[in-house]
Amino acid sequence: MHDLSGKKGFIFDLDGVVYIGKTPIEGARETLAHIREIGGKVRFLTNNAADSRDYHVRKLGSMGICCEINEVITSSQGVAIYLKDRYGTGKCFVIGEEGFVGELRQQGFRVVEGKEGERADFVAVGVDSGFTYEKLTIALRAVKNGARFIAANPDVSRPGEEGLDPAAGAMIAALEAASGVKPEVVIGKPNPMLFEIAVKGMGLRRNQVATVGDRIDTDIVGGNRFNLYTILVLTGITKRGDLRGLKGEERPKLVLDSVADLKGLL
Ligand SMILES: [Mg+2]
Repeated sequence: MHDLSGKKGFIFDLDGVVYIGKTPIEGARETLAHIREIGGKVRFLTNNAADSRDYHVRKLGSMGICCEINEVITSSQGVAIYLKDRYGTGKCFVIGEEGFVGELRQQGFRVVEGKEGERADFVAVGVDSGFTYEKLTIALRAVKNGARFIAANPDVSRPGEEGLDPAAGAMIAALEAASGVKPEVVIGKPNPMLFEIAVKGMGLRRNQVATVGDRIDTDIVGGNRFNLYTILVLTGITKRGDLRGLKGEERPKLVLDSVADLKGLL
């Protein structure tokens, strides 16, 4: 049984739901086209803090899925919005990649490095494939000097092209271990903050929105905490055998083999 009646907005996780790495999930494009045809609103919401929203728009476009930049929400954008809303402006040292730096600059933050980094107001941490001892040193000193430590997303690893790759959570843990300070906030799912940005942006109420994800600990827990209708798909990290013993906020409202199956339910 499902209750998708009255749902007008759909929030999709990307990796494991719409595509896996560079390969689109069969039928994802058709489901998304169908949602638009029936007048539904769409948001793509990813904990991935490395890539820019532009990059995601282009990547989806290359798979035949058209979307606008305001339909993509990333954890790095979430960090920039959080800092802007609470603190207005300041100097930021970033452990993260170009997409992350770009979001902070767009919100008016000055991104600093080296000795200046040690005096930053904020240390923003996401996944960084160029993570070094030097970056960790600057971040450590900045935090010890009183910088606010903000983290993009909690994922400790992610599927890579040749196996598992370390993700933001591993860099966050390194800074936490060195400094003895925990991040003030971890913006990405399961924190409902990105869902809040998405629902607000669509101009809908929570009970009009469903979210589709492949991870229990981020997508489903985060969606349930924000009272969205949560749909788990089995094309990504979670397999049917993992569903036994799920409790409370870990339980999706609906389980589908693939996002392709959503089309027939709308
Ligand atoms: Mg995913």
